[in-house]
Amino acid sequence: MPGKSPDGDKPSPAAEDTNGDSLAAGGDKSRRWVAPHRQIMAAILTASALVPLVQPAEGNASARNDEADAIALKAYSTRQALAAPALVPPATAVDPVIEVRELERADAVREKREDAEAAARAKAKAEAKAKAKAERETAEREAARPKFVKPANGRLTSGFGTRWGTSHNGVDIANSIGTPIVSVAEGTVIKAEPASGFGLWVQVRHDDGTVTVYGHMNEITTSVGKRVEAGEQIATIGNRGQSTGPHLHFEVWEGGGAKIDPTHWLAARGVSL
Ligand SMILES: [Zn+2]
Repeated sequence: MPGKSPDGDKPSPAAEDTNGDSLAAGGDKSRRWVAPHRQIMAAILTASALVPLVQPAEGNASARNDEADAIALKAYSTRQALAAPALVPPATAVDPVIEVRELERADAVREKREDAEAAARAKAKAEAKAKAKAERETAEREAARPKFVKPANGRLTSGFGTRWGTSHNGVDIANSIGTPIVSVAEGTVIKAEPASGFGLWVQVRHDDGTVTVYGHMNEITTSVGKRVEAGEQIATIGNRGQSTGPHLHFEVWEGGGAKIDPTHWLAARGVSL
């Protein structure tokens, strides 16, 4: 409306003549009333605006002080955070020097791991080779090992057969007390005990049923049930039983029964006494 003041604080000169306000229709009286009314409203609005500022002085002062302290602390913290230097660079910031160093470190780690893996492969290969060699050598030793051997080293002092009117059922090999006595072939110990005339004896049954008998020994070094190889020690030479000096009395029982000449039996197997 023309003539009305935009802020309404005071009427413009034109408003005094053509005031569009319904209250202004009353002329000078209305105009005089309007002005105080607007002043009062302005005062109320101003007072309302001031209320929050005045409030701390009223009501619960302690609670408001706490709130104020919290606001002040928050503001202080914010200022400190803004002022503090960044100790850790942002994740997005990439320092080329650091990046290169990290890549070099990763390369070093990878190379170390590859070296370790290569060393492990070489070790496994060497171990497999050593194992194969050991197995081959064992097989070669087994193949080379004689299947029949002499029962003891010494001097053949008496052969198989009749002597002085009696039957000598074996051969005598003389040597000093303690000389090793071995099984002439692979087999199983079936007797290891004192025996009449023999002093002590050991009997070994071989896989073809032949039994070999060892007597007069000083000491038995095996036991019944033990599996022995050709050349494995079972006793030592002694002078026990019907013996006239330290020697081994050795017999061969064909099929576990018939006593045969040990010299022939051994000779047929490549062993000479
Ligand atoms: Zn004899």
